[in-house]
Amino acid sequence: MERITPPRLVRRLRRLRVQRLLSWLSLLCWLLLACPSQPGPLPPRTPHPPNTAGELAITFFDIGQGDSALVVSPTGKRILIDGGPPEGASALLSALSERGIDRIDLMLLSHPHLDHLAGLRRVAERIPVALYMDSGFESRSPAYLGLLKVLTARSVPVKQAKRGRTIDIGGGSELSFLGPPEPFLDHTRSDVNANSVVARLTWRSRVVLFTGDAEPETERWLLAQPATATAGAPVLPISAEVLKVGHHGGKYSSTAAFLAAIHPQLAVISCAAVNDYGHPTPEALGRLERAGARVLRTDRLGHITLRSKNGAAWQVENQPTGPSLPRPGPDGPRGTSATPDPDKDVE
Ligand SMILES: [Zn+2]
Repeated sequence: MERITPPRLVRRLRRLRVQRLLSWLSLLCWLLLACPSQPGPLPPRTPHPPNTAGELAITFFDIGQGDSALVVSPTGKRILIDGGPPEGASALLSALSERGIDRIDLMLLSHPHLDHLAGLRRVAERIPVALYMDSGFESRSPAYLGLLKVLTARSVPVKQAKRGRTIDIGGGSELSFLGPPEPFLDHTRSDVNANSVVARLTWRSRVVLFTGDAEPETERWLLAQPATATAGAPVLPISAEVLKVGHHGGKYSSTAAFLAAIHPQLAVISCAAVNDYGHPTPEALGRLERAGARVLRTDRLGHITLRSKNGAAWQVENQPTGPSLPRPGPDGPRGTSATPDPDKDVE
């Protein structure tokens, strides 16, 4: 074995240090050559939101038997109107994620029925919400109370959508509340439905009316409101070129008189291909056809997006969503138990 004397040991240690330094220098040179001098653009975390500046986009999601629509205003404000049923919540979250929606400026619940509110709770649990509004119609259903609990835990302001209130959503676009009726309607087929928030979205010449699950009584009430300004009450026109059809195309809503006043060119129906209510009904479809509206259905087209660039006419796009969402079983949210379910819709 080689015997190492102290001077030789020092020389060897020096040599080792020089070798180590050289290898560090070569690694540094390699890194400098391998990396560009200017960092390239980072890959986007998520796809772009469904609009660009100067564009109004509304997507009606195919979330099964229920309603959910996303409005992205010309300045990028995001308004989520309803959130669909429990079985559609995952599809809603995916659709929002695909569109890069990482915050909601306004979450609006038309009325406290499960097919409109369940998805909102899932969204509120995952995405920051700046403001929440609903009809103010009392509900003690566990699903509704659960939604409020989540909103409270996240310190989301909760307000009531009252007739006459208008919200500026940017770039000259506005959301005006025409309903719920004041005072609330009672003794209707469904007072929860009848007191839905009715919201009218306007931007330049583009007008969209969201009716929740408005009942014929709601429609009659809206038609009876003064068409001209009276003391303290603004003029609130109801005409709209796009109508989110009330109650998923139920046979009682979308009365001929109401459609004559709205005069919609496009009528969007949100429903599942297979549902317990026969939505949309031949009666409602017939009235929409006679009113001259082109009907767009989520059960046939998947997600439906309407875009207006700089206020121009709507461009209609659709994104097929594949097979229908599973239908809830007998123990599911629309179970057939003999006890009335406060969340259950009516038909
Ligand atoms: Zn509904």
